[in-house]
Amino acid sequence: MKKIKLHWQILIAIILAFIFGQITGTEMSIAGVSFYAVYDFIGTLFLNALQMIIVPLIMSSIICGVANLGGRGDLGRLGGMTLGYYAMTSTLAILVGLLVVNILAPGIIDGAPAGDRLNLSTDDGALASTVASIEGRGGADIIAIFLRMIPSNVISAAAEGQMLGLIFFSLVFGFFMTQIPNRQGEVLLNFWQGISETMMRITMWVMRFAPFGVFGLVAATIAETGFAAFQPMLMFFITVLIALGLHMVVVLPLLLKYIGGVSPVAHYRAMAPAILTAFSTSSSSATLPLTMECVEKNAGVSEKTTSFVLPLGATVNMDGTALYECVAALFLAQAYGLDLTFTTQFTVVLIALLTSIGVAGIPAASLVAITVILTAIGLPIEAIGLLLVTDRILDMCRTAVNVFSDSCGAVIIAKRLGEPGVLESSPQSYTGSSLAADD
Ligand code: ASP
Repeated sequence: MKKIKLHWQILIAIILAFIFGQITGTEMSIAGVSFYAVYDFIGTLFLNALQMIIVPLIMSSIICGVANLGGRGDLGRLGGMTLGYYAMTSTLAILVGLLVVNILAPGIIDGAPAGDRLNLSTDDGALASTVASIEGRGGADIIAIFLRMIPSNVISAAAEGQMLGLIFFSLVFGFFMTQIPNRQGEVLLNFWQGISETMMRITMWVMRFAPFGVFGLVAATIAETGFAAFQPMLMFFITVLIALGLHMVVVLPLLLKYIGGVSPVAHYRAMAPAILTAFSTSSSSATLPLTMECVEKNAGVSEKTTSFVLPLGATVNMDGTALYECVAALFLAQAYGLDLTFTTQFTVVLIALLTSIGVAGIPAASLVAITVILTAIGLPIEAIGLLLVTDRILDMCRTAVNVFSDSCGAVIIAKRLGEPGVLESSPQSYTGSSLAADD
């Protein structure tokens, strides 16, 4: 394994995990220890290690990113481009979802709403606990999501993983750090830069265990979910995959090529370890350290741009999530026989866009946002019970799209800012020079 590049190791781990997870399920055990418990243990260890890095990494990289930008003009320009890119790609993603769900109509079977047939497949236990966990989160939730943006207590925001609040505080801190006298300012900048670099080193170290961690995470998911339960939801599953695929292999590459002027293939190669890790962890936040590493080291984007665009993107820019929310809500609307008027569809698009900004980059975060949409278009939130069957696997796929879109943003913005050396050498050198197992 020593000579194989990291992304191949991860890919092999994913394939093995699919096989093992499917064969052992959750029951099979040896000497009283179930395979599932072992997968879960390894996967959780890896996920914890990644999450351990997040808070100091986000804070230090945003603070350094903003402080390094210096004058207000630079910050405004980079901020404007970043938000512009994020708004544009999320909207494009939702439109792709809207198009595909309207064409394939997965919620209609033989010309009739599929609600009754699909209801049979919901798992009552899981449904009850999901509904309980999101009960009371009605339309007001959109406001709550944005209220958290300015945390009343930054320590508890960090402890509770409320990234929007942490990002806001770090942006403000970084900006005002440049306003204090030089001597103190320099000490602070060196301090945060030291933290940021240390966190990157820790990321590299944690990633050496990625193939094992990924194996554990994916095998546990497959053992738990299996494929048998997919049958009634197959059409929905395929619809989401097609829409996500279109966004990832058509829309984003077109933007890379025509707005960024870079080779999409070279960028895929640069980002392979991050995409595969996003797929395995279902968390763009947990993948962030690696996304930053790949964008900086493999794609050659400056630290300045990386440390501003990516931490923001991991929370704010979720193309896969926005697309999924739109497809899922319209699928349920179709299945329940709701009239899909222009107003309904427009409401779905708008709320999908807003909530995708606010939802956290953690597994299954979309489900909460979907309940907000369902409430708005007048469907019972119990309807999301239908989505539970396929959610785990689709979460993996949409998270990969989320992370890939963030990385495209970093590359395109760096190019537009005239940064030299972004994805410029031959594609072979992008296979993870810094993330290869043999260095
Ligand atoms: N798991 C996704 C992410 O971390 C969020 C979601 O769509 O549930 O990006």
